[in-house]
Amino acid sequence: MAILPDHISTPALKEHLVQFYASDVSLLNVMSTFINAGLNANETCFIFATQAHHESLQEQLTENGVDVLAAQTRGKYIWLDATEILSRLLLDGMLEPERFARIVGDVIEQATRGQQQVRIFGEMVALLWQQRKFDAAMRLEELWNDLYHRLHSFSLFCAYPMHSFDEQANNTEFVKIIQQHSHFIPTGISSLLTGPNKQLHAIARLQNKTDELEAEIEQRAEVERRLRVSEEALFRLAAIVASSDDAIVSKTLDGIITSWNVAAERLFGYSAEEAVGKHITLIIPPELYPEEEEIIANLRQGKRIEHFETVRVRKDGTFVDVSLSISPVRDRSGKIIGAAKIARDVSERKDLERRKDEFIGMASHELKTPITSLKGFTHLLKRRLQKHGDEESLRFLTRMDAQIGRLTNLVSDLLSITKMQKGQLEYRMEVFDLADLVQETIENVQGTTQTHDLLLQETVAASVYGDRDRIGQVLINLLTNAIKYSEGTDRVIVRIAVHEGNIVVSVQDFGIGIAQENQQKIFEQFYQVSEPDGATYPGLGIGLYISRNIIERHQGYLHVQSRKGEGSTFSFQLPLAENARGKEEEPPAL
Ligand code: ADP
Repeated sequence: MAILPDHISTPALKEHLVQFYASDVSLLNVMSTFINAGLNANETCFIFATQAHHESLQEQLTENGVDVLAAQTRGKYIWLDATEILSRLLLDGMLEPERFARIVGDVIEQATRGQQQVRIFGEMVALLWQQRKFDAAMRLEELWNDLYHRLHSFSLFCAYPMHSFDEQANNTEFVKIIQQHSHFIPTGISSLLTGPNKQLHAIARLQNKTDELEAEIEQRAEVERRLRVSEEALFRLAAIVASSDDAIVSKTLDGIITSWNVAAERLFGYSAEEAVGKHITLIIPPELYPEEEEIIANLRQGKRIEHFETVRVRKDGTFVDVSLSISPVRDRSGKIIGAAKIARDVSERKDLERRKDEFIGMASHELKTPITSLKGFTHLLKRRLQKHGDEESLRFLTRMDAQIGRLTNLVSDLLSITKMQKGQLEYRMEVFDLADLVQETIENVQGTTQTHDLLLQETVAASVYGDRDRIGQVLINLLTNAIKYSEGTDRVIVRIAVHEGNIVVSVQDFGIGIAQENQQKIFEQFYQVSEPDGATYPGLGIGLYISRNIIERHQGYLHVQSRKGEGSTFSFQLPLAENARGKEEEPPAL
């Protein structure tokens, strides 16, 4: 009797081995090594296994790179269902030797012919053992041994699950099993042996100890590996934080700074030693303290804050425009314990934006005077030509006048946007009939187009409270857009209706339409949908931005319904005058 730690992979092995396995994993390890070695040495491998073990074995072998299907096709890998074969070997619960000879013996003998090497894995004995048919199991071991001694050209590997011994605790039987085999593969036979066979007893104890130690070593190695991985991840993270161009700061929920990277030192002027441990208000201008309270309230609810633009104060007292992204920091249990804040310096961009706005404001202001005087002179000239009856010059002048009109609208839009941003756009509030205004505007815009009929299909008399000119500006914008973006069609439909205390005006065209993904963007400043065919339309992309702003300042709502290629309907709704005034005691301070 000898212990066989890893010779199972030896080719042309001629042994009768036994393994007592504690878990399917250890069985599979040994079993797959055993079969793998056989297949490598071109031996024929018989696997008398349960379906479950056979499937796991196939998986394991495939994982190890063995082409099981090919081996099966070559007749080198033969699986025989242990449960089924066993039932055929038994007669009234007793093992029939001649059945064994016929069903198992003949097949094996045939396979060993011509000096062929054979490898067999068998767990029929284990199945019998588990069914408490101890005698039958021993008998089967003996039959295997007879065959083994007769042919002497195969190796046989039997495996028993240890738990079947735990229950029976039958030491004598256990020792008998071992004695039926030439080698036993030790994988932890624990304290099963308590009988007089001292040698086996000692081996078992030693083996048990070795197994325990090996398991511990493996566990420690795994813990160390994991530690190394998390250490590396931490190290990498620390390197990223340190080298980031953005300031990265963490703080507790009470606002105490807990970390401060190099970029934060650069941006705010405080060193990490100066900042860590201090309250975050160190860099917040006092008038913005309420903003910080709101941020913390959001964080407590687990909400992230992204690209929030605000102002912070540096150590030298100067202000810096920043864009903040703040996320809650949680402990292992998921509890929010603080916040991590990334601050990006956006002062350069803000400065550029300010300069751009200033430029637009100044340029449009400067353009306004010459255009007004151009318009004045055109009117003067028009009257003179009318007097002299110079029809041709008059026609040219009318076209000139229309272009000056467009220029006036563009400049006035630019001026509106500048004023709007500064909160300086003035509104002259009055009660007026919206249907009148719509009618009047339609007539004016109709005068500028020969291609489209502007049709007022539904109307109601309804008064609103607001700035007539500004609402007129919105209507002009919607009507001119409807004409501009519907080339090749010939009508635009306008409707006025009253709905739940609001008056709704809609402008429908049958033009190019707007794709769903752009329907919100068109209300942004300077946004124009670019057509895939590169078609461009004149404009600055600010009309709708201004229009929405004006409508919202009247407690109204402007939106679009559209499908690409099928036209668009822009609608705005405003509260009826009685509701608008009823809502507020004072006229709105616009
Ligand atoms: P623009 O001066 O470019 O017309 P607007 O702010 O009025 O600026 O409109 C923004 C964009 O919305 C336009 O550039 C166009 O792409 C799209 N748009 C506006 N109205 C319509 C419409 N009736 N049909 C299709 N697209 C439209």
